Amino acid sequence: MLRRLWRKLGFSQRAHSDDAVLVYHVRCNKCGEVVRVRIHKYNDLSLDDEGGRFCHKTVVGSRCYARMQMTLRFDPHFRELERSVQGGEFVDAA
Ligand SMILES: [Zn+2]
Repeated sequence: MLRRLWRKLGFSQRAHSDDAVLVYHVRCNKCGEVVRVRIHKYNDLSLDDEGGRFCHKTVVGSRCYARMQMTLRFDPHFRELERSVQGGEFVDAA
């Protein structure tokens, strides 16, 4: 739905992914699967009291049903302040 809207407005997917989407990789503690998580800066983040942004996201891989709870915090300029994930760990892109 949103994607269709963006296309209508003339935003290319490519330009979009470059500056508005953050990509994280988390490894499931249970099965070891590395799941790629895309966080959209303007859709997935909520404002906090200090003008920064945060995100709570539940990540589920395809190999098992274990849920990973990802938490991210950013300052008002989208610089990452904090990251944590329960049930998994952050890894670099393979
Ligand atoms: Zn798993």
